[in-house]
Amino acid sequence: MRGFGFALVRTARSRAELQTAQRGRPSDLAQRFSHSAAGPGRPSFGIAFDIDGVILRGRSPIGGAQRAIRRLYSEDGTLKIPFLFLTNGGGVPEHRRALELSQLLGVDISPTQVVLGHSPYRELVNRFEDDLIVAVGKGEPAIVMSEYGFRKVLSIDEYASYFKDIDPLAPFKTWKVGQTESYLSAKVHPSYDVYSERVKGVFVVSDPVDWGRDLQVLCDILSTGGLPGTEKGDQPPLYFAADDLEYQAAFPSERLGMGAFRIALESIFNQISYHPLKYTSYGKPNPFVFKNAAKILEKLVMSMYPDSQTLKEVNECQFSAIYMVGDNPKVDINGASKAGHPWSSVLTRTGVFRGKDNDPQFPADVVCLISECIVPL
Ligand SMILES: [Mg+2]
Repeated sequence: MRGFGFALVRTARSRAELQTAQRGRPSDLAQRFSHSAAGPGRPSFGIAFDIDGVILRGRSPIGGAQRAIRRLYSEDGTLKIPFLFLTNGGGVPEHRRALELSQLLGVDISPTQVVLGHSPYRELVNRFEDDLIVAVGKGEPAIVMSEYGFRKVLSIDEYASYFKDIDPLAPFKTWKVGQTESYLSAKVHPSYDVYSERVKGVFVVSDPVDWGRDLQVLCDILSTGGLPGTEKGDQPPLYFAADDLEYQAAFPSERLGMGAFRIALESIFNQISYHPLKYTSYGKPNPFVFKNAAKILEKLVMSMYPDSQTLKEVNECQFSAIYMVGDNPKVDINGASKAGHPWSSVLTRTGVFRGKDNDPQFPADVVCLISECIVPL
């Protein structure tokens, strides 16, 4: 706890003058970080880490990230500092991502410490519980939605497979779709009557894989009131788990994200439809995501100190600071700024942001390499 706090103090002090000059406000960060590290009992601060470009690049931990995360645990492996991962990524259930991160980072990460872009979809189960919905994206989007409690969900791969010739380019695609074999029996006996039952909601769970096919099928669903090949109809609700234009993956420069797909879909849909596309985007920088993360951190503290006064206090945020550590100014830093107290932002130079000083449009409270801000000095 001390090492982390002191490291942040040092980083904050080294940036203080720069921030004051850039943002035109006095920096009290060093004092706040110092307070965060002091005193026994429950920690007065929590941390939210972005994953891509901060902790991992592709599947490889970024230099210093493993050691940084391990410092948040006691020597016996128990959690010392409340933290979670707050990412716009997804495509697998939270418990599976927690297991992957545990293996990659060498610590025990619980599913509650993993907040993915699509995690807020849980809140929509009551609205769509018995409706046919389509889940889009890499990984296992339909399994994700089924585990949240949606009862009638099909992945776009499966849904498209029931409509002959819906993708005129399919014969030219030479790659194999991973799930195809498991769908062969389902193709003969569709799970639901997809030829008469309208799709009542579309959920983009993770980055779409086959953009061309998905743009076509989504335009079909959305322009016909949920039944491809029929007359125009009212657009069913459309949700995106995030709106990142770009993100840092294994390739040296940024890759197009879900926000880029949304722009493509919106541009095309608005050309072929009488009405503009309506949609809702979750994920950072939506302030809802930060409020939800603060609540989860409070619950985490409650589980760390079950017999303390925190039980009475948990209804409101008790943290004097929550640090959002991210690499994307527009998403991570902008989100933390919009969320306001107790959120502070730490911008790393390990991903989307590579600047020398601070981001001019969305300046962070602190700018550093992750190894600078957390690894013991
Ligand atoms: Mg990132």
